[in-house]
Amino acid sequence: MICNFCYRHCNIEEGSSGFCNVRKCIDNKIVSPNYGYLDAIAIDPIEKKPLYHFLPGTKTLSVAEVGCNFHCDFCQNWQLSQSEKSDTIKQIKPQELIDYALAKNIPSISFTYSEPIVWQDYVVDTSALAKEVNIKTVMVTNGSFSKEARESLAPLINAFNIDLKGDEYYYKNVCKGELKPVLDGIEYMVEKGCHVEVTTLLLEEFHTIEIVEKLGKLLKERGVEVWHLTRFFPTYKMNDSDETSETFLARMIEVAKGSNIPYIYGGNSSSEYSTYCNKCKKKLISRNDFTNNIEKECKNNIKNGKCSYCNNLIYGIFS
Ligand code: SF4
Repeated sequence: MICNFCYRHCNIEEGSSGFCNVRKCIDNKIVSPNYGYLDAIAIDPIEKKPLYHFLPGTKTLSVAEVGCNFHCDFCQNWQLSQSEKSDTIKQIKPQELIDYALAKNIPSISFTYSEPIVWQDYVVDTSALAKEVNIKTVMVTNGSFSKEARESLAPLINAFNIDLKGDEYYYKNVCKGELKPVLDGIEYMVEKGCHVEVTTLLLEEFHTIEIVEKLGKLLKERGVEVWHLTRFFPTYKMNDSDETSETFLARMIEVAKGSNIPYIYGGNSSSEYSTYCNKCKKKLISRNDFTNNIEKECKNNIKNGKCSYCNNLIYGIFS
């Protein structure tokens, strides 16, 4: 039986699992035994996804089942992503999650931490219900959708943060994945008018100036407007690698600006990466940490999606 959740389209024999180890063939059907068994549930600032141009200053209800269709040596959440079986004993049905978000007055639910593509049946069911009660949905993903997944998720998900991890070599050797389906995923979601921000985790030993220039060009060609470059910290199979320095990040941010993508931010950094109008250059949202009053500042400085100083349209969803 073929699974159509991601670009791999695994052909799974009875009693076996696909590459992700969480989709299984049982009684001639592809099923998700972990459906609704959430191994992580937390309330985060939306900025932590990272999303800087989507409901700034609000909280999001972050949830995850286990599993991933890549095996990145540097995975920051490998305990969740590389696991195949839930440790949770209680299933949380989509409606229960929605009720919880409503009770807590949280405006969005984020499918995050592991790879939601491999548990997209739960994502789709929950997002359809969320739409009915005007709760927004967010997917933080490696972007390697199947065609079928792209088509079913685009109308349901309000905002995507998609990783663009590196070049072909990097995807193949460090992530056990592929670049092309990710680029296709980014292109499709931008074309469909979904809110898209992209993240690249920078490792000094892999991300050269040429690679960052190439990634910037690929994103610009696909119409991406927000790009986060974030610092790596040693973990999982790369526990012996050096952390990415602030100096390296700052240098790569300058390289990335050469792409003319209008909003470029550093992440996992002690530097402040605020939002400036890309026309008049006035500061619109200060972001020295996630505890200051971002929501209020955003309401003052971005009105009807436009800069309050010069009326320039700012990419994003602000209310
Ligand atoms: S989600 Fe992807 S990796 Fe997992 S079984 Fe389906 S096609 Fe294979």
